[in-house]
Formats: sequence, structure tokens, C-alpha cells
Amino acid sequence: QEEIASEPGRIVTLRPGQEFRFENDFSENGIVTLKLKSGHAEIFGTELASDPTYAFSGRKVAVYTWHGCTLEVRGKPTVDYIAEEAPMQSYLNVHLALEQLRTAAAEKGDAGPKVMIVGPEDVGKTSLCKILLNYAVKQGNKPIFVDIDPNEGSVSLPGTLSATAISRPIDVEEEFSASSATTGTSPLVYYYGYASALEKPKLYHALVERLAGVVNKKLDQVDVRSSGCIINTPRQFVDVDGYETLTHAIDQFGVNAILVLGHERLYSELTKRFPNGSGISIIKLAKSGGVVTRDKTYRKQLQMHKIKEYFYGTLKGELSPYSSLVSFTDVAVRMVGEGTLAPSSALPLGSERLLQETRLVKVEPGDILLHSILAVSNAPLPDTQTNLTPEQESSLVLGTNLAGFVYVSEVEEEKKKMTVLAPNPGRLPRRFLVMASLKWMED
Ligand code: ATP
Ligand code: MN
Repeated sequence: QEEIASEPGRIVTLRPGQEFRFENDFSENGIVTLKLKSGHAEIFGTELASDPTYAFSGRKVAVYTWHGCTLEVRGKPTVDYIAEEAPMQSYLNVHLALEQLRTAAAEKGDAGPKVMIVGPEDVGKTSLCKILLNYAVKQGNKPIFVDIDPNEGSVSLPGTLSATAISRPIDVEEEFSASSATTGTSPLVYYYGYASALEKPKLYHALVERLAGVVNKKLDQVDVRSSGCIINTPRQFVDVDGYETLTHAIDQFGVNAILVLGHERLYSELTKRFPNGSGISIIKLAKSGGVVTRDKTYRKQLQMHKIKEYFYGTLKGELSPYSSLVSFTDVAVRMVGEGTLAPSSALPLGSERLLQETRLVKVEPGDILLHSILAVSNAPLPDTQTNLTPEQESSLVLGTNLAGFVYVSEVEEEKKKMTVLAPNPGRLPRRFLVMASLKWMED
């Protein structure tokens, strides 16, 4: 960063309504910094301050200005240009409509809008969530950000469903990084363990139900009641196969506004299903021309980066993770799904699959755990006298929120011990650890 600071900066001047878009890679040389020299500008709804120099790595960013601004840009973006058109006015209009609903709700002591954002891959769903959350916060609301897209795991790690009360603007550099202080409160996280919502629909439905229950209860509290929530959804919700899962989530949360981003067919289907008077407004929004399609390689990089951030922090706030030795006998490792470790069962075909979908499978700790990211359940291990059936145990573990994650950096089979990395100090409590497909290698 020091090197960059000594380079001469490039001045970028934006007229009202223009957007400066840039992309950069994850390398040290790829870091791009921004400073607001004059005027006003925002990144996905968060206003830039004029003092700080913002640093970015491995990002695709849009700096929008309503009234014009001058920026100083340092470093070498892989792509950068000024766009004349951005659909920000239509996003602002949606915000203003939601704000009216919030004001009306506050007057009557009702719940505020429960907004769901749906759309296919890479249309800007998550970015729109950030914009709407930031605009709501700016007007003094405390909206809940609900993320039921397990592919992204925005506030936690991939494989999770979560809810977070947002009380401050989202940090432009750290975004929803798991270690970011942006959100004020720590998120409520459940573990699903798969990237696609349709991989284990029964488990997914069960977790959505659980999360919706908690969110709706939270929205009973006076201070957040009228703020409502913004729900980010997985791209599978636009598929015909995902329809049932989509409507289940709409029901569970009691959604009353659905924003359809860049998908005519789904918009038309939803307007038929929820006509005027159904209590659910369906709003069609255009995708921003700036949204970048992210290929598999970039997504994998992003995922690995997110894991690294979970343990080591960000450019802005570094963390030193803690290593500790864990005895195999002090933890119970379970795996989501049947896999090859599933016990054979005499149940008829079909019913077996359904049952196993929400049943965790015992994993003998050993080399199989090496380099795994394990979810640490908040569910304590029952004492040795208590015998839970596999079904009871599974609903206890999956139905309890997560304490966090650990990384298995070393396994000593003979000593029956393993070394785990955790973001916080202290002994790993006697807990259930849940393994899915997430693996990581420290570099
Ligand atoms: P997914 O289906 O993977 O969840 P999504 O629909 O949530 O994708 P986003 O994550 O919001 O899409 O956007 C995809 C990428 O494009 C992100 O890296 C985001 O930062 C970037 N992006 C979004 N809007 C803009 C814009 N106006 N200019 C530049 N980049 C943008
Ligand atoms: Mn997304």
C-alpha cells in the first residue's frame, strides 16, 4: 500500500448520475485505492467520506454519484471505465416506496416491509440488498439482512443461511466480511452445508422455517419492528424446480414485496400467482449494466479469500487466529448428507433418502478431516448417559445456530488429536463439529 501511495494518483471526474466502475485481482500489486477529493459519492449505497483512502483487493466496484464528484484513483485496475447509465434512480424509487411503508408501519405499530430480492445468477441481487440496507440505515432504520443464498454465505462462510441486524452503513472495504464490525451485532447463522438450495430441499426448507421464526420474532421488538427485513435469495429460485422452495420461503417470512431483478418470466409468473390485492407487491427491476459475470475460477478464488478473511481478517483489520490441540474424544464430528458414510438402511427407497436428508452422519475423526472447514455448533455435546436417536441428534445440531468455524490444519491419527485454527482464543468447547465439502489450504 505504501508503494501505491507514492505513485501519482489519477483524477477521475464524474458528472451527476455517472458511475465509475473498476475491477481488480487479489494480488498485492492489484490493490486499488480511492480517495474522494470533492463532491459526494457512494459505493453500493454507502457514502464515501472525504478523509480516508479506501483500499480494494479482488473486487468489482461501482462508485456512483448523484451530484457529481472528483476521485483520486491509485493502482492498476484490470478493468475501469465511466458509465453514463446506472439504474440507481429506479433503486432509489424502490427505497422511497419502502420508506413510506416503514413510516406507515411505525405510525400504526405494525411490522415494516419484508422484502425479497429474486433473480438469476449475477444480476446484482446482493448489491441491491446492500443499497437498500444502506439507504434504510441512512434514514434511521435498523433493517434485518436475511441471506438465504448458501452459495455466497455473505456474512459468514459458504453453506450457511443467516440473519443480521444492520445498524450502520456497510463498510465499503470489508463489506459483510465475517470479521467486519459493520453490522454491529453478530449474525445468527445456521449451517446447511451445500452451495445449492435445491441440493437438499427438505433440510433447506427446515432451516428457512427456523430462520424465519427467529427473524419474525425479532421483528416483534419495537425498535426494529417498522424497519422490516431485506431477504437475499439463491439464483435457483428463478428455476421451475425452485418454485416450491421460493414460495415456501415467501410464506415462511411473510414477504410482502418481491423485487424481481432481470427475469421477465419469473416476474410474469409471480404477478399471476400474487395478483393485486394478494398482499404481496411484485416489482420488476432492470439489472445494472455494471454487474459483472463471475466465472468459476473467480468464484473459487472469492470463496478461498473469504475463508482466509474469516481467520486472518482484511486489509483494514488483520486478525491473528489461534491454534489449539483438540482431542478426538472431546468433539463429535458429523457430516451433512448421506455420502458414502451413511449407514445402510432397510427403509424403502425414497423414504430413506428423505430421512437421510436431514440426518447427520457420524464421522470417525482422522485424516479425513485434514484441511476441512468445520462448523462449530452451539449445541453442547450431551453427557454420556444421554442417548439421542440419530434423528434427535440431527435436529438438535442442525437446528442450533453456529458458534463459528474452525480449520483443521493437522491430524495426528495415532495420538488421536488434531490441530485446529480458530478466530478466537480459548479451548474449543465440547461441541458438535459439522463437516461438509468445504476445504481450504493455508498459503
Ligand atoms: P449471485 O447470483 O452470484 O449471487 P448477484 O446477483 O448477487 O450474484 P452481485 O453479487 O450483486 O450479483 O454482483 C455481481 C458482481 O458484480 C459483484 O462482484 C458486484 O460487486 C459487481 N457489481 C454489481 N453491480 C455493479 C456495478 N454497477 N458496477 C460494477 N460492478 C458491479
Ligand atoms: Mn448474490
